Amino acid sequence: MSKPSRFPLGLDSMGQAPAGARAKTDGRTVLRPQRPLHEAARDAVRQAAPQGLGLDSQPMRERMIGVLRREGIRCEPVFEAMRRVPRHVFVDTALANQAYEDTSLPIGLGQTISKPSVVARMVELLFEGAQARAGGSLGRTLEVGTGCGYQTALLAHLSSRVISIERLKPLFEKAGTNLSAWRLDHVRLVHGDGRLGHGPNAPYESIIAAAGGDDVPQPWLDQLAIGGRLVAPMHRSGGRGQVLLVIDRHAGGLVRTEHEAVHFVPLKSGIA
Ligand code: SAH
Repeated sequence: MSKPSRFPLGLDSMGQAPAGARAKTDGRTVLRPQRPLHEAARDAVRQAAPQGLGLDSQPMRERMIGVLRREGIRCEPVFEAMRRVPRHVFVDTALANQAYEDTSLPIGLGQTISKPSVVARMVELLFEGAQARAGGSLGRTLEVGTGCGYQTALLAHLSSRVISIERLKPLFEKAGTNLSAWRLDHVRLVHGDGRLGHGPNAPYESIIAAAGGDDVPQPWLDQLAIGGRLVAPMHRSGGRGQVLLVIDRHAGGLVRTEHEAVHFVPLKSGIA
């Protein structure tokens, strides 16, 4: 596994450095922006806004949240994070005018940024986990499949610590550039095989995967904290497609539940 990169990652890709600082609250370290994060995000949006998108994508994000509500998502913390993170910054300029539609989009190398409704649903499921319900935070989160870094940015608003692993070097680097607009000191990107998890920062209260395999890698189960929850797309046996799988770790063992059908890119082994 290559050396993990740490934030802040060099120069701000959008020509400014929104200020952020960490503060202790109830013994947990949380992101405390020195000025409201949405202001920083708006500045970034103004500078990065492609032609035709208008100067401020905030109303488009509100509309997108309205669509997600109608689709049955109820998790307000997820909506708050979606308000703050400009999705169009994470996709190619040519696709930016579709960034607030509920659709997956290509991010290169045959990979896609997931549909907002699927991202919201998965993070909502994480929030329904015992630890998150009790603490109002996802706690320490492991994300497998950083992609362009959009979901990583959402998780950064909802977690005390985020470790995100991507196996494809160009996407690992792209996510680093995308996320360098914010000073996310509690986020660490790793270029590596996410099937192995990330032992040095384990255990995790939340584990989320953006790529689906035939089984749950044993390291994910080993690295899941008691009271923690894992959400991942997983193939059903007999070629019957993928479903969202939830695994809760209780003191007495693991409890698995299957949710709705989904379509994710495959979880692969090794790095490239
Ligand atoms: N949430 C991402 C979605 C990216 S698509 C986003 O917002 O952009 C899923 C990603 O999982 C791809 O980038 C793919 O390269 C990655 N992936 C697949 N198998 C992996 C593995 N074993 N370890 C780490 N990343 C993996």
